[in-house]
This record gives sequence, C-alpha cells and structure tokens, in this order.
Amino acid sequence: SNHGVREKHVAVFTFPFSSHPSLLLTLARKLASAAPNVVFSFFNTEKSNKALFSELICENILPYNVLDGIPKDYVFQGKPQEEINLFLAVAEEEFRRVLKVAEEDIGLKVSCLVVDAFFWFSGDMADEMNIPWVAFWTAGASSLSAHFYTDLIREKTAELKGSVRPEDEIADLIPGLSKVRLGDLPSGVVFGNIESPFSTMLHKMGRTLPRATAVPLNSFQDLDPDLTKNLSSNFKNFLNIGPFNLMSKQTQALKSDDEFSCVSWLGNKKPRSVAYVSFGTVFKPPPHEIVELAEALEETKTPFLWSISKDSEKHFPQGFLERISANGTGKVVPWAPQVQVLEHFTIGVFVTHGGWNSVLESIGVGVPMICRPFIGDQQINTCMIERVWEIGVRIEGGTFTKDGTRRALEQVLSADGLSKRLKEKIEALKNLAHKAAEPNGSSNQNFKTLVDVVTGATL
Ligand code: UDP
Repeated sequence: SNHGVREKHVAVFTFPFSSHPSLLLTLARKLASAAPNVVFSFFNTEKSNKALFSELICENILPYNVLDGIPKDYVFQGKPQEEINLFLAVAEEEFRRVLKVAEEDIGLKVSCLVVDAFFWFSGDMADEMNIPWVAFWTAGASSLSAHFYTDLIREKTAELKGSVRPEDEIADLIPGLSKVRLGDLPSGVVFGNIESPFSTMLHKMGRTLPRATAVPLNSFQDLDPDLTKNLSSNFKNFLNIGPFNLMSKQTQALKSDDEFSCVSWLGNKKPRSVAYVSFGTVFKPPPHEIVELAEALEETKTPFLWSISKDSEKHFPQGFLERISANGTGKVVPWAPQVQVLEHFTIGVFVTHGGWNSVLESIGVGVPMICRPFIGDQQINTCMIERVWEIGVRIEGGTFTKDGTRRALEQVLSADGLSKRLKEKIEALKNLAHKAAEPNGSSNQNFKTLVDVVTGATL
C-alpha cells in the first residue's frame, strides 16, 4: 500500500454524549492504523471534538463539527434527555450538511459510513450514496438483542394482556436471553417512555440494522456465544472486535495519565482489598445514596478509591474526606485512569453503574462487580453480570443503602463462598477475553473483516 497517500475517505458519525465519542474515536484510530491510505472525517459536536482532539491524534483523522441543536439563548429546563433530544432533532440534517463540506475539503467522495448504530437514518444516506454502511454498537450483545427484538418483545407482552410485571422472565422469547426479566430490559422497550425520541431511535435502529453492511461491537464472541450466534444469523457481518483496551494500548482515546496519583496510592494496600468506585462519565447517584455508600465503606473499613465529580463531594457525610485522608483508608478523585486502576493487584471489587465499557474493563482484569444500574443498558448488563455470567452482584433493592452495601462489600471481598465463585467465573471470562484479543484471536480476525468492509476490499 501507498503509505500516507489519501486514496479513500470514510466518514465517522458520533453520538456526542457520554463515552460514545471516545469509543468511536478509538475505533477510528484502530481503522486508521490498519488502513493508512484512508482518511477519516470525524463528525462530532464542537464541544466534544474539543475535548477529544486536545492533542494531535492521528494525521488521517480529521475532526468536523456539527451543530449541537441548542438554539441561541436557550434556557435548559431540566427535562430528561433534553440535550440529547435537541441534538437528535438536527442530527441527520447536520450530518448531511457537513458531509458535503468534508468531501469538498478533503477532495474525496465518501466511500463508506462508519456510524454510531444509534443513527439508523444513516442507512438511507449510505444507500443513496451506494456505499457500505457500518453501524457500530457501543455496548454489549444483550442490549443490542433487546433493541433488535423490541417488536417481538412487545407482541409477546401484549399477549399477556397487562399482567406483565418487571420481575417476569420472558421465557423462550429471545434466544440466549432467557434469564432476563422484563424489568432488566433497557427502558423504552416495554416499560418507561416508549415514545420518547431516544426510545423511538433505538426501536428504529433495531429494525434497520439487518440492512447494515457490518455491525461491529466492542465485545468478544465467547462472552455471549448464544447471542452472537443469533445476531450473526440476523445481521450481515455481526463482528465482535473487542475488548479494545486489551488489543492495542497505544490507540486508547481516553486520557489515561494518572494526574491524581491513584496508582501510587494503591501501592501500599493489601492484595484484592480495595473497592474501586465509579459510575462512569454521566451518572451521579442521588445525594442520599452517596451518603449511604460512603458510610458503608467507612464502617466496613474497606479501603477505597472513588472517582466522582468535584461537585458531588459536597454530599459526603460531614468530616468524611478529612477522616479518610487522615487514616489513609480512602481516596477521592475527580478522574482515575480506570483501566490501570482496575488491573492493579490491590483492587478486589468494582462498584459500578454497569456501563458497558466499565463492565468490559472489569472482565478484562478479572475484578468482580457490585452494580448499581441507572438507565439505558445498565440494567441488562447488571442482569448478565449477576444472573448469567455470575461475576458480580446487583445492589439489594437497586439503590445504595448502608446495610445492603455493607452486605455486598462483605460478600464480594470475603475469601470464601460466593466471592470465590465470582472470582472463578470472572477469571474464566478474563482468559477468554485475552484469547479473543490475541493477534490470531477471534476479535482480531473479525477486525480484519471489518477493515475489508471499510476499505472496500470485499466489494
Ligand atoms: N473512566 C475513567 N476514569 C474515571 C471514570 C471513567 O477512565 O474516573 C472511563 C472508564 O474506563 C470507561 C468510561 O470512562 O472506559 C466510562 O464508560 P462506561 O461505558 O462504563 O460508562 P458511561 O460513561 O458511558 O456511562
């Protein structure tokens, strides 16, 4: 190949919220290093592009800004998903507009669309341009199945005529998802606001994905063999290409420097004794739950590292920060290099919201989880963790109480019983994850197929 000569132009559309943009950028970087003569235009809001492209990432990935849909002088009303809804209202129009700008600017027509799978409408765009459509799912196979089978799930629950409760299991409905209770499904499938713009988008996505040229996801096929088999028979090129963080350290998009010295702080703790606490980049437990969790950590004398935004610190119990820093049991930081932290030998449990990246990172290092899911795919991920993979527990009652949290910490951090089983199970999945990520492992083989699709080699 003719290194550095730009022969092809691939457009990447990101969903500019939570960890989506950085994951799409990681994918773009992996593709760019495998296909040096492809230039990638990276469509994202200005705000998100600024955060991602603070340093030069790769000369073949060019950021393009799309409008965020927030009207001038707009006053936020605190409605759910307000910012997302504003963006979704302009997304298609913006992608179409800026695509022309990028083609003009780069001097090459776009030959493939690589998009966040949320953007179901981009399948039509790809059809109009007669080019491949790659719809990247940024979470796991279970949530994807729930969206793909939404019509079926709704039919089945409608047949049960109102007698459906969140705790019901949907027997034989989705192959490989028999242990999922209706209440574990992402909100908007059966329960919750099924008509919100976000739910509608996911529903349409589920219907449109069989048209995609490829549906890659950041996971590995041995994690969900049944779901993989099923989705492979419904989608063209359903490709597990992860876990990203085990495959190529140098293409990580997230800031990973240890600005707050987390790793050195862990250094003097006992093996497998520390709880790492983080709820991802968006969600914040309500103030009273922060108090309950803080008290449980203190009373059980569990050493802990807690990544939490600065503005949440005011909710801690009185004197909490002073006490934990005086006796050295805890450390609170606004950001932790999570992957480095999780792989440290002192970490014994991850207290998490069950966001997909966090789950996968925890599996990759064999650390069992305590889950406190909020929304989206976090419920179904938690269900997989607790009931299918058996590598963690869901917090009793779904929210942090002092006693429930104390019990969960004791269960997972003790040296016997349930804890032993969780560790054995997650160790086995960890090994499968590492195998998939080997040079000839399934995820790398799938990635080669994806590169062929994106560069047009298979057409
Ligand atoms: N993360 C991190 N340090 C933190 C908090 C989060 O590195 O202090 C990273 C974490 O490793 C993961 C991502 O942010 O890759 C969060 O993604 P996830 O899907 O778990 O949750 P989301 O932010 O999308 O809710």
